[in-house]
Amino acid sequence: MTSGDIAVLSGDGIGPEVMREAVKILRVIEKKFSVALRLTEAPVGWAGIDAAGRALPEATLALCKKSHAILFGSVGLPDRDPTIPKEERPERAALLRLRKEFGLFANLRPVKLPRELARACPLRPERQGGGVDILVVRELTGGLYFGQPKKTEEITCDGRRVRRAIDTMVYSTPEIERIAHVAFGAARLRRKKVTSIDKANVLENGVLWREVVTALGKQYADVALEHLFVDNAAMQLILKPAQFDVMLCENMFGDILSDEAAALAGSLGLLPSASLGATSRERTFGLYEPAGGTAPDIAGKNLANPIAQILSAALMLRYSFGLDAAAAAIEEAVARTIAAGFRTGDIFSSKEANTRQVGSREIGDAIAAAL
Ligand code: NAD
Repeated sequence: MTSGDIAVLSGDGIGPEVMREAVKILRVIEKKFSVALRLTEAPVGWAGIDAAGRALPEATLALCKKSHAILFGSVGLPDRDPTIPKEERPERAALLRLRKEFGLFANLRPVKLPRELARACPLRPERQGGGVDILVVRELTGGLYFGQPKKTEEITCDGRRVRRAIDTMVYSTPEIERIAHVAFGAARLRRKKVTSIDKANVLENGVLWREVVTALGKQYADVALEHLFVDNAAMQLILKPAQFDVMLCENMFGDILSDEAAALAGSLGLLPSASLGATSRERTFGLYEPAGGTAPDIAGKNLANPIAQILSAALMLRYSFGLDAAAAAIEEAVARTIAAGFRTGDIFSSKEANTRQVGSREIGDAIAAAL
């Protein structure tokens, strides 16, 4: 019997409401697939500051360290206590600290537009092709965001003092290889195609990226590999999104393209994400969270869409516990629930026949029943 320890960190705003529905689904999975998931809750974000004086309390971090995965809600409430400095506020003190602490170098953002929600997509139906179903794999700990030197300095230019800002893009072969392994491995569980994104026509980093990915691709002969320049990739996402299966990107290109891809799905409430660290003894440590934030505008009202959180739990089962069938069962149950007409406010339209607007709890119940 597969078993696992999961740190459940709901956080702030809609976090607890959507997490409650994800836990409901995991309890059904335990019975259906005979797995034992030990879920332990702990405070993070403003909830951590309220409970223990800091956004990531020591006890919460200790729990994460002895767990196999973190199921995360979201943190941050922009209107709370402006006197607390940026580095102690939840977004930095909790989320960035966790990413660093666990070396989470691979960010996976699947974007799937269910056929029934095609009208929520900003593209005309004929542009949607056979449907949008993309996995963006983004390198998360290297490249331009972290390379040194990184500074703003004063220099003399044409006889006057001016400021100059420097960021440095750096990638080494092992950094490219480990993220490429994640992309090829993920493609094997999908439609077996990787599109690697670079700027090899201009950047040294792009040349190395392309060479390393091409060489590594030979180990995955069953996966088709193609390369696109990032500017063309941005255009192709809008012109013909159905051509993409897995998009492999360095940090900054992935940051931009994953948001562009996310826009195709119509609502943040549908989009899960996984941030993966190293694999040891066949287990991959990961932090799984919705792509959206704490949505303070709708928090506490049973209005939030829990699907992003539920699909994040499915990614956790797939990538940290190797339970692909259980993950697929959740994804199918979500698809069936949407097909049956259940809609939270963010994906509801009164113009759509045979649908009804429901709350977070009700759509969670419907997904649990569909399982
Ligand atoms: P947001 O993602 O919280 O909300 C943007 C819009 O999307 C809002 O209208 C909101 O109602 C809607 N939305 C988001 N998730 C939804 C869901 N599940 N169901 C229905 N509607 C949903 O972004 P924001 O308002 O810019 O940020 C609010 C707070 O969240 C900020 O403090 C921000 O720093 C934080 N944040 C945290 C994370 C994280 O924890 N990973 C990510 C993004 C933002």
